[in-house]
Amino acid sequence: MKTFCGRANPTTGAMEWLEEDENYDYHQEIARSRYADMLHDKDRNTKYYQGIRAAVSRVKERGEKAIVLDIGTGTGLLSMMAVSAGADFCYAIEVFKPMANAAVKIVEKNGFRDKIKVINKHSTEVIVGPEGDMQCRANILVTELFDTELIGEGALPTYEHAHKYLVQEGCEAVPHRATVYVQLVESKRMWSWSKLFPVHVEAEDGEKIIVSPSEMENCPGVPSVCDIQLNQMPSSDFTVLSDVVTMFSVDFSKPVRSASTSYRVQLEPVKSGKAQIVLSWWDIDMDPSGMINCTMAPYWVKPTAAFQWRDHWMQCVYFLLNEEPVLQGEKVYLTACRDEYSVWYKLQKARGEEENKSDVRVESPVCRCQAHLLWNRPRFGQLNDQNRTRQYIKSLMKVLKTDSVCLCISDGSLLPVLAHYLGAKQVQYFFPYCFPCILGWYFQPSHLFFKANNLEDKIKIIEARPELLNSSHLEDKKISVLVGEPFFTTSLLPWHNLYFWYARTAVTSHLTSNVTVLPQSASLHMMIVEFQDLWRIRSPCGTCEGFDVRTMDDMIKNSLNFRESKEAEPHPLWEYPCKSLSDPEEVLTFDFRNTVPQHCLSTEGSIKLLRKGKSHGAVLWMEYHLAADISVSTGLMQISNEKGNCEWNPHCKQAVYFFSSVIESETLSDLPSAVTYAINFDTKTGDIAMDFKL
Ligand code: SAH
Repeated sequence: MKTFCGRANPTTGAMEWLEEDENYDYHQEIARSRYADMLHDKDRNTKYYQGIRAAVSRVKERGEKAIVLDIGTGTGLLSMMAVSAGADFCYAIEVFKPMANAAVKIVEKNGFRDKIKVINKHSTEVIVGPEGDMQCRANILVTELFDTELIGEGALPTYEHAHKYLVQEGCEAVPHRATVYVQLVESKRMWSWSKLFPVHVEAEDGEKIIVSPSEMENCPGVPSVCDIQLNQMPSSDFTVLSDVVTMFSVDFSKPVRSASTSYRVQLEPVKSGKAQIVLSWWDIDMDPSGMINCTMAPYWVKPTAAFQWRDHWMQCVYFLLNEEPVLQGEKVYLTACRDEYSVWYKLQKARGEEENKSDVRVESPVCRCQAHLLWNRPRFGQLNDQNRTRQYIKSLMKVLKTDSVCLCISDGSLLPVLAHYLGAKQVQYFFPYCFPCILGWYFQPSHLFFKANNLEDKIKIIEARPELLNSSHLEDKKISVLVGEPFFTTSLLPWHNLYFWYARTAVTSHLTSNVTVLPQSASLHMMIVEFQDLWRIRSPCGTCEGFDVRTMDDMIKNSLNFRESKEAEPHPLWEYPCKSLSDPEEVLTFDFRNTVPQHCLSTEGSIKLLRKGKSHGAVLWMEYHLAADISVSTGLMQISNEKGNCEWNPHCKQAVYFFSSVIESETLSDLPSAVTYAINFDTKTGDIAMDFKL
């Protein structure tokens, strides 16, 4: 069955109706899923296996039959481990139909059909009894339902239900326990992901400071977890203010309560500073003794421990409501609050009369200023990037004249304010154009912003799509300077911000004949890379802990080949180290001084491989040429050494096109000397199609 789905094209802005295959969503789900990453997580798999063997032995030693319940079986891996460890029977529950089907196939292929029953249900729908899904309650509970925040995938309600209805009292659980750790830090870099810092502008009539509205200053932000590869954060980017402490733990072998609660710990700062951020991660003990431990601790916590790279579990960054100065040795209280699915933090100074723990009521963070809804965390970081702002200021100074009439097209941008301060008094109109939504609330951050800086009557916001702009919006003036960062919240891939070009084309009739467009052009750049680890998410697994999981490999491959999944995908490469195997190359340019052409823009060529290594894929990014000699890159910042290690723009995602087969070369001589490519930008659809040959 085909369905039609309406969507606004992120590049062209056009409303379009796409014929969606009913399987589209699940192919996306499988192709982009973390199943492969989990199968590659050797540390996790061996520890689960050890924990499962130990649990089965304990039950057998008691003279009982080992009946296992595996909730969220996925590929069936943990169930197969349990049966291999001697379990008598295993109920494998999986809610996601394509995975339940895969589990049936994998279980059968590995010869466990008689001992593992795959049940395609959510665990809370499972019924125990002679006519039910399970003959009896299980005495071993095995699960892997955790996300980076531990509880975000609903582990707590699932456990709560399982203990009530699906397992025996006193059951064994693998993992046995999870513990959440926290560490208080000061970090300008991470703090810049949540608050907007003042922007200093050297204008002709003295220094101007753009301040953030108080509504934004005191806003708790959004409840969604900020999960990152903390191991890529250099120690120079944060200051540790406390030791690592245990915040709370959950014993999975006992009844679990999922209802909202809070936990409080006392911290004694090891250093004076500004408390801004709570870093957090967890570990799981696979057995009651704690001998089999799988930890997400970052590099500075256990520097000697063998390190396992993984993308399905990372570390969390929590932002305190406001920064709090703390003094070395002067105790403070940190409260973790949680509901069923998320955690948030509050810091309090120790008081004379100590507050009762139960008195601490902290609401779940809800963004009140709208800015945290409009700007994601990397966008906050980008707006706070002084270097970048300086490039825009320098360019605006070059192009603005005392009689400029300026129009800004970008989502939630500070450019109108910069332009106002840098231009003449006659600068009249800007509109931070919001795409594709023209709801009033969407503009609120800009309104708040202009108000806080007393610019409400200086900057006019036009709430219209570019093609609906008319001369009355502009009070019959023509635009002499058109500016954009460009940045649009709907952009996922780097070239989606070419929407600026389409908007520029739509407003052409309102531009003066000698209009200045800033950026004047953009270019698409490309480089061939070898990833240190990211390649794992695309590489087949074959066997995992001795079990044949090729069915899963095939399924992922099949989904990757399914229509759009074949495209490049966005990844924030500062979190995923790679080395360049070729020089960066400019492959396409887009001239914003002219309108979008009718014909396609295409290019072909070959890119020379200069270093030995595995060609995992091509990375693509955009560079914007703001004015003569001033460019900003949203991708490569520099190649930092002769080994080819790359430094990426930390505020943007780059596009990664994974090659379907990886070419490995030990020496330069047996390297294919080049990768040939064909790239086509279809100006009608805004899509970029790519083809590579190794
Ligand atoms: N056990 C596998 C897969 C873990 S991923 C392994 O360790 O490799 C977690 C899986 O649990 C997902 O496939 C998800 O669809 C499923 N899941 C999560 N909560 C569930 C629930 N309450 N009932 C059934 N399946 C669930």
